Amino acid sequence: MASQYERAQSPSELSEVAPPNNLLRALHQDDLVALQPHLESQRVEVGRVLYEPGDTVRYVYFPCGPTLVSFMVLLEDGRGIETALVGREGAVGGIVSQGRLPSYSRTVVQFPGPLLRMGAGELEQAKVRSPSLRNLFARYADCLMAQVFQSVACNAAHSIEQRTAKWLIAALDRTGDHDVPLTQEQLASMLGVGRSYISRVIKQLKDRGILETRRGGVRVTQAGGLEDIACGCNRAVRSHFEDVLRGVYPAEEESAAIKASAGDLQPGSRMPG
Ligand SMILES: [Zn+2]
Repeated sequence: MASQYERAQSPSELSEVAPPNNLLRALHQDDLVALQPHLESQRVEVGRVLYEPGDTVRYVYFPCGPTLVSFMVLLEDGRGIETALVGREGAVGGIVSQGRLPSYSRTVVQFPGPLLRMGAGELEQAKVRSPSLRNLFARYADCLMAQVFQSVACNAAHSIEQRTAKWLIAALDRTGDHDVPLTQEQLASMLGVGRSYISRVIKQLKDRGILETRRGGVRVTQAGGLEDIACGCNRAVRSHFEDVLRGVYPAEEESAAIKASAGDLQPGSRMPG
């Protein structure tokens, strides 16, 4: 249970509970014990910006449970285009750069929930001491890069309808809830298309009985229908995760448990702000 993890004080207690982030859960027990004293938790709301372009990366953030964070690239005309979504399978902040460098993109919360964070410097020190920790984060950096490569290809080659369906599936995989609290304005902005275009796509999905619109978001009523429309980009990324970091990409069975325990993370030490 997430709350037990937060309350765990000693290594023996820690060994009995699972962290609510899959990457942390995949750590060797000794590595998890080494990181645990540095982890702080907080609940974050939609729109909370973790990094703006140019901010020095001082913390690594681990989305927990249903929490979803995205990397947005800001264009000259002010639009922000989503390039990668990160949920409990991963972490953001200094994953590739190892921290202490300026952030390139805006990192923003898309789905609310708990986050754990630790100092990027502390994580780097722990990596120097532990080859297994270094190896796991190197593997995760490879998966994150794969996700970004796939996203470049997806944005260039796949239709708005395919990308909308792909995004909704990625969100469902991680939140375990059929309600996606994302407005059409947010979706249009993330996909870098006009509001009227996305309205048309949503209407088509609605007419096919795949989703319903509701205040502040959509409710997916037929996830299988989304799978039929979506491009294969989620599957390609999932498959790479399975090769490189088996068991870390969110699974359907796990999502039900996540939904049941969402909001369960009671922070032991809270982040300021
Ligand atoms: Zn695609």
